[in-house]
Amino acid sequence: MHTPPTGLYEAPLPADWPEPEALGFGRILGPYLAHAQHGEDSGWHAPTVSARSALSVPVAGGGLQYGFSVFEGLKAYRDADGRIHLFRPRDHARRLQQSAQRLVMPEPPEEVFMTLCQLAVQVHARYVPPFGRGSLYLRPTLYAEEDALGFRPATRHRLAVAVTPCSDPLPKSQRLWAETELIRAAPGGLGAAKTGGNYAAGLAGQMRARANGFDDVVWLDALTHREIAEAGTMNLFVQIGDEVVTPPLDGTILAGITRDSVLRLLHADGVRVSEHRITLDELAAAGMAGQLGTAFGVGTAARLVTISEISDGTTAIRFRDTGLAARLYERLKQVQEGATHALREWRV
Ligand code: PMP
Repeated sequence: MHTPPTGLYEAPLPADWPEPEALGFGRILGPYLAHAQHGEDSGWHAPTVSARSALSVPVAGGGLQYGFSVFEGLKAYRDADGRIHLFRPRDHARRLQQSAQRLVMPEPPEEVFMTLCQLAVQVHARYVPPFGRGSLYLRPTLYAEEDALGFRPATRHRLAVAVTPCSDPLPKSQRLWAETELIRAAPGGLGAAKTGGNYAAGLAGQMRARANGFDDVVWLDALTHREIAEAGTMNLFVQIGDEVVTPPLDGTILAGITRDSVLRLLHADGVRVSEHRITLDELAAAGMAGQLGTAFGVGTAARLVTISEISDGTTAIRFRDTGLAARLYERLKQVQEGATHALREWRV
């Protein structure tokens, strides 16, 4: 059991603190980090809080050199009574452990993760927007901290939690570019780990999508370049006939917590859902047969984005707005913000 440090005080707000609606995402960083070191011989040290500027990352260490860094993204919300809760933090803790395991890094115990997240929120309580107007996004990051160049597991790591307040994302619709040349992840690779390399691999695809006049990219499988995998940094769902389909967790895609929440909400509403592979060609055929309904992407930052079109430049697949995405967006918002008693177990 870790005892939080005493003498904490609340971080002051920046002078140009905008209205919560105008915060956007990631623009304002909380001034503190909650963090704990891990030593090969000493294990996990007690969590503490420092100014964000007090920590540094060695240039000649494995974190920067080889990408030994894994992270999480979760949110703290204020409910109607002003109390603050974290949404599904234990699920994020488990996913961080899985990412760490894949990169041969020490797996942070759930209680270390929870203590650090709670500390980060505690000192930034004033950064949690009012009920219904946004959230505090937490970015727990585990990185190699040893100042040594050898390509081997580092002997010293740190788990640090940064925070940024953000607006409540607006429901929006996107046109997506199916990327048939660049790939995000391959079987046996890092796709299921939340690690910087996947994002570094993905930015060029996103830029190509934008250059082609689209909002973001749809990643396809690495072997046939036909199966849909993820939508930018979101998990992907499509409605075909009376069923909602999402690609299976085959190790190449991130096991999104929002994906899991959506699956639970759809099941609870009696919607038929299925996790199976689906190709662009099958989607196009379903479109020709008049069977395509809504498509949407889901993730912590954006919540839920409706997809109006997916195109690879040759085949354009157009989706129909059946209202399902809007209903899910509202359900998710209520559950995440604590505006309903349903699924209380997800709020800590
Ligand atoms: N896929 C990728 C590649 C992502 O970066 C994210 C965002 N973390 C997601 C899916 C959605 O995951 P979550 O719902 O846990 O935020």
